[in-house]
Amino acid sequence: MKKIRSRIGLCSVVLALFFAAILLLLNTYRKNAAKWFLTPYNRHLYSSENVLLTGTVADRNGTVLSYVSNGVRLYNDNELIRKSTLHVVGDPYGKIGTSALATMRNDLISFRTLEGISSVDEAGNTVVLSIDADLNAAALKALDGRNGTVCVYNYKTGEILALVSTPTFDPVNIPENLEEDSAYSGAYLNRFLSTTAAPGSVMKPVILQTALESGLQASDLDPAQSGPLTEWKYTCKGIARFPDGNVKCPKTHNSQSLTETLANSCNCAYAVLAVALGPEKVAEGIRKSGLTDSYKIGTVNTARSTFRFSGIYDYQLGYAGVGLYLDQVNPCSLLVYYAAIANGGKAAVPNTVLEVRDSSGKVLRRPEIVMTDQLLTASSAEYLRNALSEDVRLTYGKDRFPCAIAAKSGTVSQAQGESNGWFAGFTTDEDMPYAFVVYVEHGGVGSRAAGDVTAAVLKELIKKASK
Ligand SMILES: [Zn+2]
Repeated sequence: MKKIRSRIGLCSVVLALFFAAILLLLNTYRKNAAKWFLTPYNRHLYSSENVLLTGTVADRNGTVLSYVSNGVRLYNDNELIRKSTLHVVGDPYGKIGTSALATMRNDLISFRTLEGISSVDEAGNTVVLSIDADLNAAALKALDGRNGTVCVYNYKTGEILALVSTPTFDPVNIPENLEEDSAYSGAYLNRFLSTTAAPGSVMKPVILQTALESGLQASDLDPAQSGPLTEWKYTCKGIARFPDGNVKCPKTHNSQSLTETLANSCNCAYAVLAVALGPEKVAEGIRKSGLTDSYKIGTVNTARSTFRFSGIYDYQLGYAGVGLYLDQVNPCSLLVYYAAIANGGKAAVPNTVLEVRDSSGKVLRRPEIVMTDQLLTASSAEYLRNALSEDVRLTYGKDRFPCAIAAKSGTVSQAQGESNGWFAGFTTDEDMPYAFVVYVEHGGVGSRAAGDVTAAVLKELIKKASK
C-alpha cells in the first residue's frame, strides 16, 4: 500500500511538471508567434527573392497601388501611377528602404496567433496611404523626365497628398541595367526624405526670421536710419563688399523695403543681414527653424540639413545667408518650415499613411498627428506670410497658379548644365491648408521650372477637390 501511495505521488509530480511545461510552451508561443512567423525565411510570406507575398497598398481614394495575386506581387495597371508612386509604395524586393512595402511589413501581414499560417491570405491587411495617385501622376508628368522631388501636404493633419522622387522606374518592368546606368543613380532613394541639396534663395526667409527675432534695428545696419528692422531701406548696387570677398546680385536692385528685398531675392541684402547677425546667431536661427532636425515619417528618419559657420570669412557667411556656400537642405525639413510660416509658427509633421485596415475594412491603426516645436514666433510667421504673398504678386505672377499662394524660389547655378531650382510655399486660402516643396535638377531658374511643376500639381489638386 505504501508502495502504491509513493508511486501515485511520483506520477502527480510528473503530471504537474508536464502541464507546467505545456503552459510555458503555450505562453512562449503566444509571445513570440508573430515574430517567428514574420521572419524573412518564412516561405509562406516571402518569395526566395524576398518579395512580400501578402498585403495590399492603396491610395487615399482606394485606388489599389500594389497587391498580391497567384503568388505574385502586382501593381496598378497605369504605368504613370506605378512610376510616380514607386518611392512611397516600394519596389517588390524592398530595395527602396523607406517605402511602405519595406517598412510596413508587419502592418501588411494579417496574422492571428491562434490560427497561425491559415489566417494569412494574399490580400492581407491594407495600408491606406495618404497620397492621391492622380496628384502623384500629375507631378511626375510635370517633372518631364528631370530629376528632383515634389511634395504637397496638409500642414494641419500631416497627410502627404503628393510625393514623387526621380529618377524613378517601373516596378513591373525593372530595367536590367538599373544599378549600373548613371541615369538611374539614386533611384532607390526617396530624395524628399533621404537627401540634401544646396537651397539657394529658399533659405532667405530663415535669415529674415532670425534678423526679426534677434531684435536687429535699422540703425544696426545703417547708422543714418532709425526704427525697427521692418522699416530698413536697403540700396543694392549689385555687389556687397566685405573685407575678404564680395557677394553679388544678378542685377542692381536699387532702393528696396525689407519686403521688396525678399521679392527681389536680393543676395546683397541677405548677405548684409547674415553678416550683421554673425555666425552664432545665424546658426542659432537655423537650428530654431527646424531645418537641422530629423523628422520621423512613420519609421523613417529624414536626413538632416547641414551648414558650416565656424572659422568662415564674412563674405562666406554672406553666401551662406543666401543659401549657398556649404548649405545643404533636406526637402522635407524645408517643407515643414514653410508650413510653419503658414500655420502661425508650427506645423504637423508629414506622414504618408492614413490608416491600416484588415480584410473586413476594420481600422487597425491610424497614425497620430505630431506637431513640430514652435519654429518661428507668431509675429515673424505673419510677417513672412505676407512677404511671401507679395513675392508671388510682384515677382512670380499670381495668374500662373490656380489658387492664391505664398512662395519663394531658389536657383543654384551648376558647373555644367542648367541650374537646379526650388519652389517652396503654401496656399493662402484657410480651407486649403497645403504646403509644397518642389526641387528640379538642371531645370533652369527655380521660379520657372519648379514653379511650373508646382502650378501643375496644384491645378490637379483643385480639380480633384472640386469633384
Ligand atoms: Zn540685390
